Amino acid sequence: MFKQGRRNLARWFTLSMGSILILFAGTIYYLRVADKLEAVDRLLYKKTRVLATSIQYESYATQRLVNLDQVPLLGRNVQWLETELVYVRWYDAQGQLKRLWGLPPQDWVSASPGFVTLKTQHLSSPEPLWLRQVTLPVQAGSQLLGYLQVAIPLTDTQTDLQQFQWMMTLSVPIALILIGITGWHLGGMAMQPIRQAYLQLQRFTADASHELRSPLSGILTNAQVGLLLAADYPMVQPSLENIVESSRSMNTLVNNLLLLARHQGQLAPETLKQIDLTDLLQRLVNLYTVQAATQAITLISELPPSPILGWAEPDLLRQAIENLLSNACKYTPAQGTIRLKLERHYHWVVIQVIDTGIGIPAADLPHIFDRFYQVGTERIRDQGGFGLGLAIAQQIVQAHGGRIGVSSVVGKGSKFQIELPLTR
Ligand code: ADP
Repeated sequence: MFKQGRRNLARWFTLSMGSILILFAGTIYYLRVADKLEAVDRLLYKKTRVLATSIQYESYATQRLVNLDQVPLLGRNVQWLETELVYVRWYDAQGQLKRLWGLPPQDWVSASPGFVTLKTQHLSSPEPLWLRQVTLPVQAGSQLLGYLQVAIPLTDTQTDLQQFQWMMTLSVPIALILIGITGWHLGGMAMQPIRQAYLQLQRFTADASHELRSPLSGILTNAQVGLLLAADYPMVQPSLENIVESSRSMNTLVNNLLLLARHQGQLAPETLKQIDLTDLLQRLVNLYTVQAATQAITLISELPPSPILGWAEPDLLRQAIENLLSNACKYTPAQGTIRLKLERHYHWVVIQVIDTGIGIPAADLPHIFDRFYQVGTERIRDQGGFGLGLAIAQQIVQAHGGRIGVSSVVGKGSKFQIELPLTR
């Protein structure tokens, strides 16, 4: 139970911190991309401005005649050997491509101003080439001369971002593992006071139940003696019978609580004995056949002919199966049938108690192994009980490293199944 709680705490801690970490890493990556792109844009704009300042024009009446001869890369009079630019294009004011250096336009001939990222195929390489392109309107006073379009490769930026991505891919899982380990430790620390409080409560329940046993048996014995002595006093007899009845039921409750408080967690291996499960169940069949017969119920046993040896605490296991059998008798009407089955499946045994009784509503099934949980009030009034029988059975089965389950249909019957490991 505590391990499960600790695991849940660690899981939620890792999930929440991990999500924050991934969000944080994503934001850093986004900011880094934006930052890099801004630097590229600044450089590209600067270079384009340099090109734009070399554009000359002559005025004829209202017309402007553009002269690009002095423009680096585009002009005939200027040689610019070293450049990282991919292309430089000149569009006239109507957006018609007029002069070009570098990569010719493919299908994205456009002269709309602004920055844009493009993917193209360089002739010399099969890899796609990512470009950042700027289109800058060039004006003479208020008159538009044309557009200068320049592109720069994003290769360096991409390499840089790829390295950053690699770093993130490595560091995020490492950080997640560290968060998980921290969560596990924090979970342990958080569970410590809860575990202590729980153990204290358990000790208190065990001590209180133990202390209550002696006065209760005193009351019971005295009431029984009183009942014998009061044979001639019919007035006091019902009261004494009530006392006997109540102290018997209190005794059962106190014994059940003591059992629950004492046998928490897995049983120590040295407390387990090798027993014949077929024999244990056969004894229970003998015992309950009589009880079932008094209620006009048929008890059918389906036990294997040969012994099945397993490791168990015999008294506790007997108690768990008895709880199921006594419930089956309690909740099966006359003419019904109870079936007790034992089967071996490799290293496990399966014990089933199947009845044709009143069944359990589907809404109650998930809760019936809870302590003090009872289904409906009318049937409890009829049958007594404290809602501890199945909790005890479950605790005992789990203490043996086994599982207990139930399936039921109202009005048709219930099937309780215990699965136990045969090995210690
Ligand atoms: P109780 O001592 O009150 O019977 P249990 O823990 O043994 O408590 O059972 C819890 C509830 O499950 C009971 O109130 C009963 O209604 C229901 N229940 C248990 N076994 C059966 C069964 N074989 N058939 C129908 N209802 C059952």
